[in-house]
Amino acid sequence: MSDCLFCRIAAGSIPSQKVYEDDEMLVFRDIAPARPVHVLLIPRKHIASLASVTPEDAPLLGRMLARANAIAIAAGSPDGFRLIINTGWIGGQEVPHLHLHIIGGPNPVGPMLKRSEE
Ligand code: AMP
Ligand code: ZN
Repeated sequence: MSDCLFCRIAAGSIPSQKVYEDDEMLVFRDIAPARPVHVLLIPRKHIASLASVTPEDAPLLGRMLARANAIAIAAGSPDGFRLIINTGWIGGQEVPHLHLHIIGGPNPVGPMLKRSEE
């Protein structure tokens, strides 16, 4: 059994609130949503982060990106959304299995990032 949290969610051994799945990707609700719509789109294949993708992963990543709008609409954010892919410790990634945060809701998500002083 993999000790990767999202591999275990993909395998069904840890429960999740799934909103979409097919043979190569899975979408489930974030356990601590930052906005009314906040789901995580993951590949079933274990890819640790965007820092470890290979050229062979590019078509899969393209299909994940191409599905994001339909997922956002189905999840309740029909007029746009924000994608976030935290990568590595600089990016604030906590779960080392590549995931796209799809964030939206009835109201605008808000400013992208606060500007830091430096
Ligand atoms: P990141 O910081 O980009 O690695 O984001 C990890 C995300 O996974 C956070 O938004 C968490 O709230 C979410 N998360 C952690 N554990 C679970 C879980 N068991 N089910 C759903 N979402 C989770
Ligand atoms: Zn994994």
